[in-house]
Amino acid sequence: NKEGIVSPESLDQLSKKSFPICMRGCHEYLRTNHHLKHGGRMQYGLFLKGIGVTLEDSLRFFREEFTKKIDAEQFTKRYEYNIYHNYGKKGSMISYTPYSCLKIIQENAVQDDCRGCPYKTNDASMLKVKLASYGLSSAHVQEVMGYVSKGHYQLACGKYFQIMHDSPVELGVHHPNQYFEESQNVMGN
Ligand code: SF4
Repeated sequence: NKEGIVSPESLDQLSKKSFPICMRGCHEYLRTNHHLKHGGRMQYGLFLKGIGVTLEDSLRFFREEFTKKIDAEQFTKRYEYNIYHNYGKKGSMISYTPYSCLKIIQENAVQDDCRGCPYKTNDASMLKVKLASYGLSSAHVQEVMGYVSKGHYQLACGKYFQIMHDSPVELGVHHPNQYFEESQNVMGN
């Protein structure tokens, strides 16, 4: 993480260590399906911009994945504009802000995409399987699910942070990019 620049090649590692599960889910969905719908691209693309992935690297990253399924010309026509747009390089030239938890939690989830906050959008059994696959013990899964069942999604996220970082305190999570920065701080990067 030199000079605030994050390379696409480091995202597989970073997503496991320093992404909240909304963004880890998007990363894994993209790697598996080589596609994200508009809502997922906005959620994940703006997050990547926020952690320090440059416009050029974002274009390359999404192009490399999407062109496993579609050709490069289609990618350019259908998807590049949107990435330039997120970085304020096309259209209104506004540089868009990465989504906060509140915004993500309020977004309607689409089942076949990564959009939304998984603590809210995944059903309990799916979420438990996901958390266990991320390495949480069953006792830790229960702790996180305790918050989820009460609708306290951000507290669940803070508990997950605490467990993943072996931290003495739960993090107060309000933004996925804040989660990322706190994680990088804790890990001394
Ligand atoms: Fe992402 Fe926020 Fe949900 Fe955590 S609480 S998974 S950071 S939207």
